[in-house]
Amino acid sequence: MSRQIYINGTFFPQAEAKISVFDHGLLYGDGVFEGLRSYHGKVFRLEAHVRRLYESALAICLEIPISREAMCQAINEAVKKNGISDGYIRALVTRGAGSLGLDPNRCSNPQVILIADTISLYPQELYDNGLEIITTSITRNHPSALSPRIKSLNYLNNILAKIEGLKAGCVEALMLNHKGEVAECTGDNIFLVRDGVLLTPPLDAGILAGVTREAVIELAREAGITVQEISLTKHDVYVADECFLTGTAAEVIPVVKVDDRPISTGKPGPMTLDLKKRFHLLARE
Ligand code: PMP
Repeated sequence: MSRQIYINGTFFPQAEAKISVFDHGLLYGDGVFEGLRSYHGKVFRLEAHVRRLYESALAICLEIPISREAMCQAINEAVKKNGISDGYIRALVTRGAGSLGLDPNRCSNPQVILIADTISLYPQELYDNGLEIITTSITRNHPSALSPRIKSLNYLNNILAKIEGLKAGCVEALMLNHKGEVAECTGDNIFLVRDGVLLTPPLDAGILAGVTREAVIELAREAGITVQEISLTKHDVYVADECFLTGTAAEVIPVVKVDDRPISTGKPGPMTLDLKKRFHLLARE
């Protein structure tokens, strides 16, 4: 189905939605993005995503040419215009067209692009029976090289890890940080359960501050579960009682095997299933 794509305030039919080959978003991955979900036509945690988009932009000294309020409005409009009920929205802002050199000061016209589409989910079987993942040899970007807090258009770090996962037959892969601590997966945050406590790496492990991660932490605390943001190692993963991933596209998905080792019983655990259900309700309420 042909989509209506928003570029800088105008909607274009998909085939006519074009940007310059001199755009530094293309030439250097110089730009930022967000992935959002809509449920029943309403965007989940729109303000949190837009806030992260503007923070990512600020971190790369990219001034987004419209206000946050205008961005929220435009995202809602893109959802409506494309008749999306349950869907996925990609919001991106590129540095704009410049010269072939790196200098971002030569780029004058940042492109704000919104694509509202349907979403392709993991197969239901993976939600029921859980994912198998591997630990990849690709280290998550060092925060002082390129902070994983920035959702930049350069996702090669994650793509290289994803390639390694796929070669091993896994749709997700666990990335460790430069200290060998658990960071996150290629497009999802990670949680463990140990002795009834919910554990997840802190933001300073060098991870994206996931919107779903935050929502799950809130839901767990509301349910009286102790949550600790604490540095974790591969050992903690292997000896965990439960493991699951969170992300806008994945929501909450159980992990039952890591590096070919079953996590506990090798079946999705009770806290995972409970939080999966709570998140499902929250998103659709
Ligand atoms: N980590 C990475 C690297 C991601 O790309 C994503 C997906 N955007 C996440 C975590 C999960 O974040 P969110 O819950 O905001 O989608």
